[in-house]
Amino acid sequence: MDKVDVVIIGGGVCGLAAAYFYSKKFPKQEILLLEKNLYLGEEQSGRNSGVLHSGILNPKNSLKSELCSRGVEMLKSFAKAYNIPCETVGKITVATKKEELIKLDFYLKQAIANGAQDARIIDKKEINLLEPNVEALAAVYTPSTAIIDTASYIKTLTKSVKNNSVTISPSTRVENVTPNNSNFVLNIVQNGEELNLETKILINAAGLFSEEIARLINPEFPYKIKPLRGEFMKFNKKKRRDILMNGLAVYPLPSIMPGGVLDQYSKPRNVAGTHLIPTFDLLANGSYEVGSTVHVGPLSKETSDRSDYENNRSNSEEFVKQISFFPGLKSDDLELDYTGIQLKMEGYNDFVIEKDKKYQNAIHVLAESPGLSSSLAIGEYMVGLFRRR
Ligand SMILES: Cc1cc2nc3c(=O)[nH]c(=O)nc-3n(C[C@H](O)[C@H](O)[C@H](O)COP(=O)(O)OP(=O)(O)OC[C@H]3O[C@@H](n4cnc5c(N)ncnc54)[C@H](O)[C@@H]3O)c2cc1C
Repeated sequence: MDKVDVVIIGGGVCGLAAAYFYSKKFPKQEILLLEKNLYLGEEQSGRNSGVLHSGILNPKNSLKSELCSRGVEMLKSFAKAYNIPCETVGKITVATKKEELIKLDFYLKQAIANGAQDARIIDKKEINLLEPNVEALAAVYTPSTAIIDTASYIKTLTKSVKNNSVTISPSTRVENVTPNNSNFVLNIVQNGEELNLETKILINAAGLFSEEIARLINPEFPYKIKPLRGEFMKFNKKKRRDILMNGLAVYPLPSIMPGGVLDQYSKPRNVAGTHLIPTFDLLANGSYEVGSTVHVGPLSKETSDRSDYENNRSNSEEFVKQISFFPGLKSDDLELDYTGIQLKMEGYNDFVIEKDKKYQNAIHVLAESPGLSSSLAIGEYMVGLFRRR
Protein backbone atom coordinates (compact mmCIF):
# COMPACT_ATOMS: atom_id res chain seq x y z
CA MET A 1 0.00 0.00 0.00
CA ASP A 2 1.32 3.48 -0.93
CA LYS A 3 2.01 5.87 1.96
CA VAL A 4 2.14 9.67 1.85
CA ASP A 5 2.46 12.42 4.47
CA VAL A 6 -0.65 14.39 3.56
CA VAL A 7 -3.81 13.72 1.54
CA ILE A 8 -6.14 16.56 0.59
CA ILE A 9 -9.58 15.46 -0.59
CA GLY A 10 -11.10 17.95 -3.04
CA GLY A 11 -9.71 20.13 -5.81
CA GLY A 12 -11.84 23.22 -5.29
CA VAL A 13 -10.39 26.54 -4.14
CA CYS A 14 -10.23 25.44 -0.47
CA GLY A 15 -8.40 22.17 -1.18
CA LEU A 16 -6.02 23.96 -3.57
CA ALA A 17 -5.40 26.79 -1.08
CA ALA A 18 -4.64 24.21 1.64
CA ALA A 19 -2.17 22.51 -0.73
CA TYR A 20 -0.60 25.87 -1.57
CA PHE A 21 0.07 26.89 2.04
CA TYR A 22 0.89 23.41 3.32
CA SER A 23 3.51 22.87 0.60
CA LYS A 24 5.04 26.29 1.29
CA LYS A 25 5.24 25.65 5.02
CA PHE A 26 6.37 22.01 4.88
CA PRO A 27 8.26 21.68 1.56
CA LYS A 28 9.75 18.29 2.41
CA GLN A 29 6.43 16.50 2.97
CA GLU A 30 4.78 14.41 0.26
CA ILE A 31 1.35 15.88 -0.48
CA LEU A 32 -1.33 14.31 -2.65
CA LEU A 33 -4.52 16.10 -3.71
CA LEU A 34 -7.35 13.80 -4.83
CA GLU A 35 -10.22 15.08 -6.99
CA LYS A 36 -13.10 12.87 -8.15
CA ASN A 37 -13.81 14.90 -11.31
CA LEU A 38 -11.66 15.06 -14.42
CA TYR A 39 -11.03 18.79 -13.93
CA LEU A 40 -10.39 20.84 -10.80
CA GLY A 41 -12.93 23.42 -9.61
CA GLU A 42 -15.88 21.86 -11.42
CA GLU A 43 -18.24 22.09 -8.42
CA GLN A 44 -18.86 25.17 -6.23
CA SER A 45 -15.51 26.79 -7.03
CA GLY A 46 -16.21 27.03 -10.75
CA ARG A 47 -19.95 27.70 -10.53
CA ASN A 48 -20.37 30.80 -8.41
CA SER A 49 -20.93 34.55 -8.82
CA GLY A 50 -17.19 35.33 -8.80
CA VAL A 51 -17.66 38.23 -6.38
CA LEU A 52 -15.02 39.15 -3.79
CA HIS A 53 -17.26 40.28 -0.99
CA SER A 54 -16.95 43.19 1.39
CA GLY A 55 -18.64 41.24 4.18
CA ILE A 56 -22.11 42.75 4.21
CA LEU A 57 -23.67 39.34 4.98
CA ASN A 58 -21.06 38.03 7.42
CA PRO A 59 -22.06 37.86 11.09
CA LYS A 60 -19.85 40.15 13.22
CA ASN A 61 -16.93 38.46 15.04
CA SER A 62 -17.30 35.28 13.00
CA LEU A 63 -14.68 33.24 11.17
CA LYS A 64 -16.43 34.35 7.95
CA SER A 65 -15.88 37.97 8.87
CA GLU A 66 -12.19 37.48 9.77
CA LEU A 67 -11.24 35.27 6.82
CA CYS A 68 -13.27 37.15 4.21
CA SER A 69 -11.64 40.53 4.83
CA ARG A 70 -8.16 38.99 4.98
CA GLY A 71 -8.87 36.61 2.09
CA VAL A 72 -10.06 39.35 -0.25
CA GLU A 73 -6.86 41.36 0.30
CA MET A 74 -4.75 38.23 -0.24
CA LEU A 75 -6.68 37.30 -3.38
CA LYS A 76 -6.47 40.79 -4.87
CA SER A 77 -2.66 40.73 -4.39
CA PHE A 78 -2.42 37.17 -5.78
CA ALA A 79 -4.46 38.22 -8.84
CA LYS A 80 -2.23 41.24 -9.40
CA ALA A 81 0.95 39.16 -9.12
CA TYR A 82 -0.25 36.56 -11.63
CA ASN A 83 -2.30 38.74 -14.02
CA ILE A 84 -5.59 37.07 -13.10
CA PRO A 85 -8.61 39.13 -14.25
CA CYS A 86 -9.78 40.85 -11.06
CA GLU A 87 -11.35 44.30 -10.87
CA THR A 88 -12.69 46.41 -8.02
CA VAL A 89 -16.02 47.33 -9.60
CA GLY A 90 -18.03 48.21 -6.46
CA LYS A 91 -21.43 46.94 -5.47
CA ILE A 92 -24.79 48.44 -4.55
CA THR A 93 -27.22 46.50 -2.37
CA VAL A 94 -30.55 48.13 -3.12
CA ALA A 95 -33.81 48.75 -1.26
CA THR A 96 -36.75 48.96 -3.64
CA LYS A 97 -39.60 49.31 -1.11
CA LYS A 98 -40.11 51.80 1.74
CA GLU A 99 -40.38 48.94 4.28
CA GLU A 100 -36.86 47.84 3.35
CA LEU A 101 -35.18 51.16 4.16
CA ILE A 102 -34.78 50.37 7.86
CA LYS A 103 -32.65 47.32 6.95
CA LEU A 104 -30.01 49.44 5.20
CA ASP A 105 -28.54 50.75 8.43
CA PHE A 106 -28.11 47.21 9.80
CA TYR A 107 -26.25 46.02 6.68
CA LEU A 108 -24.15 49.20 6.56
CA LYS A 109 -23.02 48.68 10.17
CA GLN A 110 -22.34 44.99 9.49
CA ALA A 111 -20.24 45.81 6.40
CA ILE A 112 -18.19 48.42 8.32
CA ALA A 113 -17.71 46.07 11.29
CA ASN A 114 -16.42 43.47 8.83
CA GLY A 115 -13.76 45.81 7.48
CA ALA A 116 -15.51 47.66 4.62
CA GLN A 117 -14.63 51.11 6.00
CA ASP A 118 -15.64 52.81 2.76
CA ALA A 119 -19.24 51.48 2.83
CA ARG A 120 -21.99 54.12 2.89
CA ILE A 121 -25.68 54.58 2.21
CA ILE A 122 -26.51 56.36 -1.03
CA ASP A 123 -29.81 57.82 -2.24
CA LYS A 124 -31.71 57.34 -5.49
CA LYS A 125 -29.87 60.21 -7.19
CA GLU A 126 -26.44 58.75 -6.47
CA ILE A 127 -27.58 55.24 -7.42
CA ASN A 128 -28.57 56.61 -10.81
CA LEU A 129 -25.28 58.43 -11.23
CA LEU A 130 -23.58 55.07 -10.73
CA GLU A 131 -26.12 52.92 -12.62
CA PRO A 132 -28.72 54.98 -14.54
CA ASN A 133 -31.04 52.04 -15.25
CA VAL A 134 -31.37 50.69 -11.72
CA GLU A 135 -34.63 51.63 -10.01
CA ALA A 136 -34.32 51.75 -6.22
CA LEU A 137 -34.95 54.10 -3.30
CA ALA A 138 -31.56 53.81 -1.59
CA ALA A 139 -28.64 51.39 -1.31
CA VAL A 140 -25.60 50.34 0.68
CA TYR A 141 -22.64 51.15 -1.57
CA THR A 142 -19.45 49.13 -1.02
CA PRO A 143 -16.89 50.52 -3.47
CA SER A 144 -14.23 47.89 -2.62
CA THR A 145 -16.28 44.89 -3.81
CA ALA A 146 -14.45 43.16 -6.68
CA ILE A 147 -15.03 40.49 -9.30
CA ILE A 148 -12.56 37.78 -10.31
CA ASP A 149 -12.33 35.36 -13.21
CA THR A 150 -12.62 32.13 -11.24
CA ALA A 151 -11.39 29.87 -14.06
CA SER A 152 -8.11 31.84 -14.29
CA TYR A 153 -7.76 31.83 -10.49
CA ILE A 154 -8.19 28.04 -10.29
CA LYS A 155 -5.75 27.49 -13.19
CA THR A 156 -3.08 29.72 -11.62
CA LEU A 157 -3.48 28.27 -8.13
CA THR A 158 -3.21 24.74 -9.59
CA LYS A 159 0.01 25.69 -11.39
CA SER A 160 1.51 27.18 -8.20
CA VAL A 161 0.58 24.07 -6.22
CA LYS A 162 2.19 21.80 -8.83
CA ASN A 163 5.31 23.99 -8.79
CA ASN A 164 5.51 23.32 -5.04
CA SER A 165 5.69 19.57 -5.87
CA VAL A 166 2.16 18.66 -4.79
CA THR A 167 0.85 15.67 -6.78
CA ILE A 168 -2.64 16.28 -8.15
CA SER A 169 -4.68 13.23 -9.00
CA PRO A 170 -7.90 13.94 -10.94
CA SER A 171 -10.58 11.29 -11.67
CA THR A 172 -9.82 9.84 -8.21
CA ARG A 173 -12.75 9.36 -5.88
CA VAL A 174 -12.34 8.67 -2.17
CA GLU A 175 -14.84 5.90 -1.37
CA ASN A 176 -13.94 5.19 2.24
CA VAL A 177 -11.65 6.38 5.02
CA THR A 178 -10.66 4.23 8.00
CA PRO A 179 -8.67 5.56 10.93
CA ASN A 180 -5.72 3.21 11.55
CA ASN A 181 -3.76 3.92 14.76
CA SER A 182 -2.65 7.52 14.22
CA ASN A 183 -2.96 7.29 10.40
CA PHE A 184 -5.82 6.92 7.88
CA VAL A 185 -6.35 4.28 5.21
CA LEU A 186 -8.24 5.53 2.16
CA ASN A 187 -10.08 3.35 -0.35
CA ILE A 188 -9.98 5.17 -3.65
CA VAL A 189 -11.20 4.52 -7.17
CA GLN A 190 -8.86 5.94 -9.76
CA ASN A 191 -10.00 5.75 -13.39
CA GLY A 192 -12.09 2.68 -12.49
CA GLU A 193 -9.33 0.92 -10.53
CA GLU A 194 -9.67 0.34 -6.74
CA LEU A 195 -6.62 1.18 -4.61
CA ASN A 196 -5.68 1.66 -0.97
CA LEU A 197 -3.54 4.47 0.33
CA GLU A 198 -2.25 5.42 3.78
CA THR A 199 -1.66 8.96 5.06
CA LYS A 200 -0.55 10.61 8.30
CA ILE A 201 -2.57 13.79 7.76
CA LEU A 202 -5.93 14.18 6.10
CA ILE A 203 -7.49 17.44 4.91
CA ASN A 204 -11.14 17.04 4.03
CA ALA A 205 -12.05 19.81 1.56
CA ALA A 206 -14.70 17.83 -0.32
CA GLY A 207 -17.20 20.71 -0.49
CA LEU A 208 -20.78 19.45 -0.81
CA PHE A 209 -19.54 15.96 0.12
CA SER A 210 -17.30 17.00 3.05
CA GLU A 211 -20.00 16.02 5.53
CA GLU A 212 -20.03 12.44 4.16
CA ILE A 213 -16.23 12.18 4.31
CA ALA A 214 -16.23 13.59 7.86
CA ARG A 215 -18.73 10.93 9.00
CA LEU A 216 -16.61 8.14 7.49
CA ILE A 217 -13.82 9.28 9.81
CA ASN A 218 -15.99 10.08 12.80
CA PRO A 219 -19.72 9.16 12.69
CA GLU A 220 -20.32 11.77 15.42
CA PHE A 221 -19.36 14.71 13.17
CA PRO A 222 -22.06 17.20 14.20
CA TYR A 223 -22.60 19.53 11.20
CA LYS A 224 -25.20 19.14 8.46
CA ILE A 225 -25.33 20.60 4.95
CA LYS A 226 -28.52 21.82 3.30
CA PRO A 227 -27.63 22.21 -0.39
CA LEU A 228 -29.14 25.05 -2.39
CA ARG A 229 -29.18 25.12 -6.17
CA GLY A 230 -28.38 28.49 -7.75
CA GLU A 231 -29.27 29.00 -11.41
CA PHE A 232 -27.78 31.66 -13.68
CA MET A 233 -28.84 33.35 -16.89
CA LYS A 234 -27.01 36.13 -18.77
CA PHE A 235 -27.60 39.07 -21.10
CA ASN A 236 -25.54 41.26 -23.38
CA LYS A 237 -25.62 44.78 -21.97
CA LYS A 238 -24.78 46.34 -25.33
CA LYS A 239 -27.88 45.02 -27.05
CA ARG A 240 -30.26 47.78 -25.91
CA ARG A 241 -29.70 51.27 -24.48
CA ASP A 242 -32.22 50.81 -21.64
CA ILE A 243 -30.33 47.84 -20.23
CA LEU A 244 -26.92 49.47 -20.44
CA MET A 245 -24.90 49.03 -17.27
CA ASN A 246 -21.70 50.75 -16.20
CA GLY A 247 -20.41 47.57 -14.57
CA LEU A 248 -21.23 47.59 -10.87
CA ALA A 249 -22.47 44.48 -9.10
CA VAL A 250 -26.12 45.11 -8.18
CA TYR A 251 -27.73 43.07 -5.37
CA PRO A 252 -31.15 43.24 -3.74
CA LEU A 253 -31.21 43.26 0.06
CA PRO A 254 -30.65 39.70 1.32
CA SER A 255 -33.67 37.42 1.20
CA ILE A 256 -34.73 34.53 3.42
CA MET A 257 -33.16 31.25 2.33
CA PRO A 258 -35.61 28.88 0.59
CA GLY A 259 -36.93 26.36 3.11
CA GLY A 260 -36.93 28.97 5.92
CA VAL A 261 -33.83 27.52 7.58
CA LEU A 262 -32.89 28.99 10.97
CA ASP A 263 -29.34 29.70 12.13
CA GLN A 264 -27.73 28.97 15.51
CA TYR A 265 -29.28 32.15 16.89
CA SER A 266 -32.77 30.91 15.83
CA LYS A 267 -32.89 33.68 13.22
CA PRO A 268 -33.92 32.98 9.61
CA ARG A 269 -30.85 32.40 7.43
CA ASN A 270 -30.38 35.03 4.74
CA VAL A 271 -28.93 34.53 1.28
CA ALA A 272 -27.87 37.08 -1.30
CA GLY A 273 -30.88 37.37 -3.61
CA THR A 274 -30.66 37.15 -7.42
CA HIS A 275 -28.19 39.82 -8.57
CA LEU A 276 -26.41 41.31 -11.58
CA ILE A 277 -22.69 40.63 -11.94
CA PRO A 278 -20.39 42.01 -14.61
CA THR A 279 -17.91 39.59 -16.19
CA PHE A 280 -14.62 39.81 -18.09
CA ASP A 281 -13.75 39.68 -21.76
CA LEU A 282 -10.33 38.09 -22.21
CA LEU A 283 -8.54 39.93 -25.03
CA ALA A 284 -6.30 38.46 -27.73
CA ASN A 285 -3.21 40.28 -26.35
CA GLY A 286 -3.54 38.44 -23.01
CA SER A 287 -5.11 41.37 -21.15
CA TYR A 288 -8.74 41.71 -20.12
CA GLU A 289 -11.54 44.23 -19.59
CA VAL A 290 -14.93 44.24 -17.87
CA GLY A 291 -17.00 43.03 -20.81
CA SER A 292 -20.50 43.17 -22.20
CA THR A 293 -21.94 39.99 -20.68
CA VAL A 294 -23.77 40.36 -17.37
CA HIS A 295 -24.65 37.32 -15.26
CA VAL A 296 -28.05 37.23 -13.58
CA GLY A 297 -28.31 34.89 -10.63
CA PRO A 298 -28.22 32.83 -8.62
CA LEU A 299 -31.92 32.11 -8.51
CA SER A 300 -31.86 29.87 -5.46
CA LYS A 301 -33.95 26.73 -4.90
CA GLU A 302 -33.87 23.98 -2.32
CA THR A 303 -32.46 20.72 -3.64
CA SER A 304 -31.83 17.30 -2.17
CA ASP A 305 -29.64 16.16 -5.07
CA ARG A 306 -26.05 17.46 -4.84
CA SER A 307 -25.31 16.53 -8.46
CA ASP A 308 -28.45 17.69 -10.28
CA TYR A 309 -27.47 20.86 -12.12
CA GLU A 310 -30.01 20.88 -14.96
CA ASN A 311 -33.43 19.33 -14.19
CA ASN A 312 -36.42 21.71 -13.85
CA ARG A 313 -34.57 24.93 -14.54
CA SER A 314 -36.46 28.18 -13.96
CA ASN A 315 -37.58 30.13 -17.00
CA SER A 316 -36.51 33.65 -17.91
CA GLU A 317 -39.82 35.18 -16.67
CA GLU A 318 -38.97 33.98 -13.13
CA PHE A 319 -35.56 35.68 -13.38
CA VAL A 320 -37.08 38.97 -14.57
CA LYS A 321 -39.45 38.92 -11.56
CA GLN A 322 -36.49 38.49 -9.19
CA ILE A 323 -34.66 41.57 -10.46
CA SER A 324 -37.45 44.13 -10.40
CA PHE A 325 -34.75 46.75 -9.60
CA PHE A 326 -33.63 46.53 -13.25
CA PRO A 327 -36.92 47.12 -15.10
CA GLY A 328 -35.47 47.55 -18.61
CA LEU A 329 -34.60 43.85 -18.83
CA LYS A 330 -37.14 41.69 -20.68
CA SER A 331 -37.30 37.91 -20.56
CA ASP A 332 -36.30 37.73 -24.26
CA ASP A 333 -32.98 39.39 -23.42
CA LEU A 334 -31.93 36.46 -21.25
CA GLU A 335 -30.02 33.34 -22.27
CA LEU A 336 -29.46 30.19 -20.21
CA ASP A 337 -26.16 30.01 -18.35
CA TYR A 338 -24.59 27.66 -15.78
CA THR A 339 -25.96 26.49 -12.44
CA GLY A 340 -24.13 25.88 -9.16
CA ILE A 341 -25.03 23.95 -6.02
CA GLN A 342 -24.10 25.77 -2.83
CA LEU A 343 -23.16 24.29 0.47
CA LYS A 344 -25.33 25.92 3.14
CA MET A 345 -24.96 24.92 6.75
CA GLU A 346 -28.13 23.86 8.51
CA GLY A 347 -28.50 25.64 11.85
CA TYR A 348 -25.07 27.27 11.67
CA ASN A 349 -23.97 30.51 10.05
CA ASP A 350 -20.20 30.34 9.80
CA PHE A 351 -17.34 28.47 8.17
CA VAL A 352 -16.45 25.16 9.78
CA ILE A 353 -12.65 24.77 9.70
CA GLU A 354 -11.54 22.51 12.50
CA LYS A 355 -9.65 19.44 13.57
CA ASP A 356 -11.76 16.34 13.94
CA LYS A 357 -12.87 16.03 17.57
CA LYS A 358 -11.64 12.41 17.76
CA TYR A 359 -8.72 12.38 15.28
CA GLN A 360 -6.53 15.46 15.66
CA ASN A 361 -4.60 14.80 12.43
CA ALA A 362 -7.71 15.30 10.28
CA ILE A 363 -9.10 18.71 9.39
CA HIS A 364 -12.55 19.37 7.94
CA VAL A 365 -13.42 22.48 5.98
CA LEU A 366 -17.03 23.30 5.13
CA ALA A 367 -16.98 26.72 3.49
CA GLU A 368 -20.20 28.25 2.25
CA SER A 369 -20.22 31.69 0.59
CA PRO A 370 -18.01 33.80 0.84
CA GLY A 371 -15.68 30.79 0.51
CA LEU A 372 -14.25 31.97 -2.81
CA SER A 373 -13.43 35.43 -1.41
CA SER A 374 -11.90 33.86 1.70
CA SER A 375 -10.17 30.89 0.04
CA LEU A 376 -6.52 31.92 0.49
CA ALA A 377 -7.13 32.94 4.10
CA ILE A 378 -8.96 29.62 4.65
CA GLY A 379 -5.96 27.69 3.30
CA GLU A 380 -3.56 29.62 5.51
CA TYR A 381 -5.83 29.18 8.55
CA MET A 382 -6.06 25.40 8.01
CA VAL A 383 -2.30 25.01 7.86
CA GLY A 384 -2.07 27.18 11.00
CA LEU A 385 -4.22 24.63 12.83
CA PHE A 386 -1.57 21.99 12.19
CA ARG A 387 1.19 24.32 13.35
CA ARG A 388 -0.61 24.64 16.65
CA ARG A 389 -0.60 20.86 17.14
C1 LIG B 1 -24.19 29.63 -6.92
C2 LIG B 1 -23.03 29.99 -6.04
C3 LIG B 1 -22.66 31.33 -5.89
C4 LIG B 1 -21.58 31.66 -5.04
N1 LIG B 1 -21.13 32.95 -5.06
C5 LIG B 1 -20.00 33.27 -4.35
C6 LIG B 1 -19.42 34.56 -4.47
O1 LIG B 1 -19.85 35.39 -5.27
N2 LIG B 1 -18.36 34.85 -3.68
C7 LIG B 1 -17.83 33.95 -2.80
O2 LIG B 1 -16.89 34.29 -2.09
N3 LIG B 1 -18.32 32.68 -2.72
C8 LIG B 1 -19.38 32.32 -3.49
N4 LIG B 1 -19.87 31.04 -3.45
C9 LIG B 1 -19.27 30.07 -2.51
C10 LIG B 1 -17.94 29.49 -3.03
O3 LIG B 1 -18.06 29.11 -4.37
C11 LIG B 1 -17.60 28.26 -2.15
O4 LIG B 1 -17.60 28.67 -0.80
C12 LIG B 1 -16.22 27.69 -2.48
O5 LIG B 1 -16.08 27.48 -3.86
C13 LIG B 1 -16.02 26.37 -1.73
O6 LIG B 1 -14.86 25.75 -2.21
P1 LIG B 1 -14.50 24.27 -1.79
O7 LIG B 1 -13.15 24.00 -2.35
O8 LIG B 1 -14.71 24.13 -0.32
O9 LIG B 1 -15.63 23.37 -2.45
P2 LIG B 1 -15.81 22.83 -3.95
O10 LIG B 1 -15.46 23.85 -4.95
O11 LIG B 1 -17.19 22.27 -4.02
O12 LIG B 1 -14.73 21.69 -4.07
C14 LIG B 1 -14.86 20.43 -3.45
C15 LIG B 1 -14.24 19.41 -4.37
O13 LIG B 1 -14.19 18.14 -3.70
C16 LIG B 1 -14.40 17.14 -4.67
N5 LIG B 1 -14.86 15.92 -3.99
C17 LIG B 1 -16.03 15.75 -3.32
N6 LIG B 1 -16.12 14.48 -2.84
C18 LIG B 1 -14.99 13.84 -3.23
C19 LIG B 1 -14.50 12.53 -3.04
N7 LIG B 1 -15.20 11.58 -2.36
N8 LIG B 1 -13.30 12.19 -3.58
C20 LIG B 1 -12.56 13.11 -4.26
N9 LIG B 1 -12.99 14.39 -4.47
C21 LIG B 1 -14.17 14.75 -3.96
C22 LIG B 1 -15.47 17.74 -5.57
O14 LIG B 1 -15.53 17.11 -6.83
C23 LIG B 1 -15.04 19.20 -5.65
O15 LIG B 1 -14.23 19.47 -6.77
C24 LIG B 1 -20.93 30.66 -4.29
C25 LIG B 1 -21.29 29.32 -4.46
C26 LIG B 1 -22.30 28.98 -5.36
C27 LIG B 1 -22.58 27.53 -5.62
